[in-house]
Amino acid sequence: MLLGLNSWLRWGVNTQPDWTLKRKIFHTNIGAFIALLSLFLYCSTLLLTLRSWTITRIFIAELPFCILLAMVPWFNRQGLDNLARWGLAFSAVVSQLIAVFMAFGSYLNVHFYFTLFAIVPIAFFPFKQWRSIVFLLLLNTALFLNFEYFPYPPAAEVLGWSESTVQIIRASYVASTILTMFIFMWMVELVAEKNEARLENLSLTDHLTGLPNRRFFESVFQQEMAKSRRNLTALALAMIDIDHFKAINDSYGHDVGDEVLKHISRQLSQATRQTNVVARIGGEEFAVLLPKTSLPEAVEVAQRMRQALADSPYQLDERPLNITISIGVTRVDPTLPMAAAYKSADTALYQAKHDGRNRVVAQSEAPLALATPG
Ligand code: GH3
Ligand code: MG
Ligand code: MG
Repeated sequence: MLLGLNSWLRWGVNTQPDWTLKRKIFHTNIGAFIALLSLFLYCSTLLLTLRSWTITRIFIAELPFCILLAMVPWFNRQGLDNLARWGLAFSAVVSQLIAVFMAFGSYLNVHFYFTLFAIVPIAFFPFKQWRSIVFLLLLNTALFLNFEYFPYPPAAEVLGWSESTVQIIRASYVASTILTMFIFMWMVELVAEKNEARLENLSLTDHLTGLPNRRFFESVFQQEMAKSRRNLTALALAMIDIDHFKAINDSYGHDVGDEVLKHISRQLSQATRQTNVVARIGGEEFAVLLPKTSLPEAVEVAQRMRQALADSPYQLDERPLNITISIGVTRVDPTLPMAAAYKSADTALYQAKHDGRNRVVAQSEAPLALATPG
């Protein structure tokens, strides 16, 4: 049931490629749902408790707008998102006007709903349509002020209700206006937070391999250098470059090259520890950050990675492609800039290539600031 509601609220979201519009469509559906729910709750509670003809009449007059509200997600699903927005705004305003003119006047505070309708259009109209947003703001503010300062009289029957009934209904209209605004803002924030997390994830992930990209790697690198400085813990960096990768592309095509990159990414991730960060920092270059790892331990991890790839080569049509990697490993001096660590690992990697590839070389000449206490 809840799942059904969730998919109903998402009707139409996929008709738009733009993330902002997707969000606005979702908000419009939520707005329609909240409006329907509160109309239903109010009508049924008042009908049951007061059994009044006046309320029954309002209920009948509101029915077409309930139907319109229920159609809002459907409009969105048909790609008619503008119609959906206006359908929501129109039925919200008119259904409250009906309640004011047919029964309650401004006597029962129904007109507080116009303050809600003045604000929420920001959440379902795109900013491009700022004229619509401003129009609804002005219209609803004017309606609220009008009924607040030029009271409209209620129906005779309403004047006959007991003072306590009237007080309860008045308070409920103000409270439900505030509560609706709060719930609505909460939902808007939830969706925004989710979208931000998704965007952040996209901007920090390499889309081919799914590994963290260079940007993510360097932000973690900065944090780990700070930790290493503070806690005097070791930190190591490994730079990995695929051997003769150009030949793979040249012999089998770029698509096979891409598949090999994905394969190697998986092997590297599997061969490292949870605390190690493996990233794709260039076309066929990877980097691994190894916190709390000494140089000999880092060399061991690097050998494991190299071996993992040698043990399970990429299979092209069930034929193994023997692809190897060269790795340069260095100890990171956290008191020096990040570039110094890169340079040191690169020098080791260059040496590994020079010495014949498919090997690990450790750069040990890096200054050992942490090794000398004081
Ligand atoms: P070496 O052993 O000296 O590293 O030789 P190499 O051929 O691996 O090095 P080189 O730098 O000459 O070539 C790297 C190649 O990687 C060239 C480029 O086309 C390829 N490459 C870079 N990014 C991608 C990618 O995303 N997909 C594919 N398929 N190839 C890529
Ligand atoms: Mg390279
Ligand atoms: Mg290479």
